[in-house]
Amino acid sequence: MGTGMKTGIVRDDRYLVHKPGYNHPEHPRRLKAVYDALDRYHNDNLITVIPEPATLETLELVHTPFYIDKVLKTAEHDFTSLAIDTPASSMTYLASWLAVGGCIKAIDDFFAGRYDVCVALVRPPGHHAMKNSAGGFCIFNNLGVAARYASKQYSLKRVMIVDWDVHHGNGINDLFYEDSNVFYLSTHDILLYPYTGNFEDVGTGEGEGYTVNIPIYRDMKDEDFVYIYQRVLTPAVLGYRPQLILVAAGFDAHHDDPIGRCNLTEQAFSWLAGFLLGIRKEIKEPPVLFALEGGYQPGALARSVMALIRSLTEDTPCLDTPEPKTEQPLKIVDRVMETHRKFGLLVE
Ligand SMILES: [Zn+2]
Repeated sequence: MGTGMKTGIVRDDRYLVHKPGYNHPEHPRRLKAVYDALDRYHNDNLITVIPEPATLETLELVHTPFYIDKVLKTAEHDFTSLAIDTPASSMTYLASWLAVGGCIKAIDDFFAGRYDVCVALVRPPGHHAMKNSAGGFCIFNNLGVAARYASKQYSLKRVMIVDWDVHHGNGINDLFYEDSNVFYLSTHDILLYPYTGNFEDVGTGEGEGYTVNIPIYRDMKDEDFVYIYQRVLTPAVLGYRPQLILVAAGFDAHHDDPIGRCNLTEQAFSWLAGFLLGIRKEIKEPPVLFALEGGYQPGALARSVMALIRSLTEDTPCLDTPEPKTEQPLKIVDRVMETHRKFGLLVE
């Protein structure tokens, strides 16, 4: 499963300065638990990457100047509400600028040949953020900006975003809904915030068929989850042939997560990473960036992130393809394939 690859790790204590409140689930102690676990892990393949704040020009690839200014102005107050669930403290602007900047740094490093895989341990998360608004604990759309930046700066025609956070990444979905240059595939529990992302939401105009939404169910096991990815992502990757893969890596489908309330263990994330790294070998080995999204139980989050990192950095034998535990995942895969058949992109 493991690939023993040089792996960039974006980390910075400045990500801890965003303080949405003691009882807020997206608390700095999430990331602190991950950094502490990482400090206890030694592997020569790890490369620490120090982020720089994104430039205004880069942020404006996705966000409006009005909204960027609104985020900047939160520095003037101890506490500002950017959305009903997304408060800002006076240093939030810095963490937000750096969350995008960490992803941009990884993209630049990929194309400078420094490493081919990177885990950006950033906060605040990004996949719910819209052009002009915050929401779902997200302020800037970290991967949305990264996809636009990579397309422009490195003339990429095909960027794929895979979103395994338990919530639907409505921000990413909406940004690229009419765009065939960015392929978005998400698994999520549609009964959770933001309650969007049905099978039939497949993109529109030029982007029709380039958005794949896969609602999952709550008691899904690791084997079921990974099975869906293997059956759907394999033809998507082989059909689309992305030049860059971005992963909205949320870990809130873990069974200990207080918000996700699903049933996965950290093994699922290790399997997924191994599978992704394997399939990239079939298509000219595009770089892969995993950017942290959700995950709200610090211990479970730290174990899940470490399972991901170990499967990238360590050379361990491949495990057999997991078999689904129930009929449900087969039905989900059939539904996705049936919905997308007419677009010809998901061909098994
Ligand atoms: Zn989430």
